Amino acid sequence: MLKFTPILLAILYALAMYRFSVWRTSRELDERSTELADARLKTLTDRMAEALDLPRIKVHIYEIDPVNGLAAPDGRIFITRGFYRKYQSGEVSAEELSSVIAHELGHVALGHSRRRMIDFSGQNALRAALAMVLGRILPGIGIWIANMLTTLLAARLSRSDEYEADAYAAALLTKAGIGTGPQKTLFTKLEALTQSRAGVVPAWLMSHPKTQERIAALEALEHRWQQA
Ligand SMILES: [Zn+2]
Repeated sequence: MLKFTPILLAILYALAMYRFSVWRTSRELDERSTELADARLKTLTDRMAEALDLPRIKVHIYEIDPVNGLAAPDGRIFITRGFYRKYQSGEVSAEELSSVIAHELGHVALGHSRRRMIDFSGQNALRAALAMVLGRILPGIGIWIANMLTTLLAARLSRSDEYEADAYAAALLTKAGIGTGPQKTLFTKLEALTQSRAGVVPAWLMSHPKTQERIAALEALEHRWQQA
């Protein structure tokens, strides 16, 4: 029993850290968000709601500057104040912003947002737990392997999540009559919009694959849909 105590402690520590990150994130979001009220955007989200057979889609503004969208573990959808400002200034269109909302809805619908908390906020906990266990089995290099494994796992999970959420958004935008055009034009804009702010954005929000690859994946989908 004594032999397994460190492993048990590591697992308990990881679980506690995970619960704490979920709690901290939702408290932070509660304190720093308001409901989005914009007539033009609402006509678009209403069209998406109709396509999904939902009464309406509620969106919140998260009061931070970095340009991003976010799906909370409890299923709420957020657009950052910085992103909303880009829309108000005309740099991003209503259709483009609604494609972000569709993407985040995809994360919620596909169950990513809960797992994301494990991927990112809980990543350090997993890293620590693995390091503790592997460090005992392989002194010296155990910690190094733990770091590599955690990073690899998180990157793999988040990348496939992004492609899945993009595909969900493409289907929803098509059904709502908005189309995938705004999604693609936004991808190219995103690169420039987020670049100047890189480093300010929390690591767990920054997980999107390369622009060209995302556009290519969407075009492959469109091609398949046209043939069906
Ligand atoms: Zn995403």
